[in-house]
Amino acid sequence: MKKYDFLILGAGIFGITTAIELRKRNYSVGVLNPGKIPHPLAESTDISKIIRMEYGTDIEYMTMVEECLPVWREWNDFFNDSLFHEVGFLLLSRSLLEKDSSGFESASYFNLLKKGYQPERLDIEQRKKLFPSINHDQYTDAFYHKIGGYAESGRVIETLTKYAVQLGINIHEEQTAGEIKINNNKAEGVITKEGNTFNAGHVIVCAGNLSPFLVPGLKSYIKITGHPVFHLKPSQPDFFSYPHLSVIAADISNTGWYGFPFHPKEKVVKIANHGKGIEINDPEKDERVVYENDIIQLKNFLKESLPALVNDPIVYTRRCCYTDTFDGHFWIDNHPEIKGLTIGTGGSGHGFKMGPIIGDMIATVAEGKSHKWSARYRWRHISEKTINNEEARFLNRNNHS
Ligand SMILES: Cc1cc2nc3c(=O)[nH]c(=O)nc-3n(C[C@H](O)[C@H](O)[C@H](O)COP(=O)(O)OP(=O)(O)OC[C@H]3O[C@@H](n4cnc5c(N)ncnc54)[C@H](O)[C@@H]3O)c2cc1C
Repeated sequence: MKKYDFLILGAGIFGITTAIELRKRNYSVGVLNPGKIPHPLAESTDISKIIRMEYGTDIEYMTMVEECLPVWREWNDFFNDSLFHEVGFLLLSRSLLEKDSSGFESASYFNLLKKGYQPERLDIEQRKKLFPSINHDQYTDAFYHKIGGYAESGRVIETLTKYAVQLGINIHEEQTAGEIKINNNKAEGVITKEGNTFNAGHVIVCAGNLSPFLVPGLKSYIKITGHPVFHLKPSQPDFFSYPHLSVIAADISNTGWYGFPFHPKEKVVKIANHGKGIEINDPEKDERVVYENDIIQLKNFLKESLPALVNDPIVYTRRCCYTDTFDGHFWIDNHPEIKGLTIGTGGSGHGFKMGPIIGDMIATVAEGKSHKWSARYRWRHISEKTINNEEARFLNRNNHS
């Protein structure tokens, strides 16, 4: 029976980029994933995900995205497909940027300037002219950064999976890892829920929401949280199309609301909330629905900020689940006790944009080496009391006692 050098559990952005990276290092690589790839319940599966450099005071994440951006652009050329749309990012703030230098918008703006970028500070008249669909009277200040935008995440996974097969990676769809085979404290493969055995010298768990169920020790550091996503069919598509609308964050660290321009293929406007979310005990069984109250909150936001969209039909809703580490940082390390077992997960609602470097990081750690970015994502002792540091996230931090 074939024995892979590396067997990867999960073909989301963490797993598939790791597989490609390890194959390029001449290892034999197998990938298991339930159902079809991209899996409908996977975090990476969606019509769009934001690619932004803006991370408030967090220079490490900003610099990591700086490294990712050229690859996002290269992938468009390499795959001859517009997977990444560089429509830019408009950050709206309810306070003057100078007023709160540690605020998400303010710190992002000044850190971009420090790095030599030219985010455009826009006064209300300029904003009304450039982005007419937004009710700018709600926002005291704003800046637009032409660098960044969104990636068609589900199609990125589809494309990378095809590329992985071309590289000689064995992709096993309809295979759900059930149990990691451990012998003398060493991982030696996996037994799937479908009753098949896959052998490997090293196992890498990139199963997103299901990772804590495959590696029980992770439950002490990671929770699963569900977040509402809405697709609306605008009656005035042009009004919401780039360049009249870019990716937007509406005072996001205090509201959670963000949105995308009219999607050229899906013909919808996606609006979602990057907030606390609701805790999900079993992501496989959870009905993952959006509740009446979520729709009321959406309507209130639209009435206030995107009034021309408030009466347009919601044509799709989804509760998508974050693999949420308590501090909001990714979880990338070798298991502290079990040899030949690596974990790459913990996207915490902001991991997709890191696709171009996340595979390199996980592969390097799995080889037992350090990666220039890996220190912060190592196995660490955090708890429910730990503060989540992802600064764009609406978490009512001020109320954290
Ligand atoms: C609503 C929402 C909005 C987001 N918006 C953004 C954004 O704008 N920008 C951004 O950068 N990030 C965003 N994120 C975060 C980003 O999507 C995730 O961090 C990233 O996609 C995580 O990738 P992953 O590979 O770890 O997990 P996943 O994409 O979930 O992949 C895990 C894979 O493992 C498979 N799997 C599950 N169980 C098993 C098993 N037992 N055996 C084998 N395989 C298994 C699954 O089928 C899946 O294919 C968002 C996330 C959500 C939920």
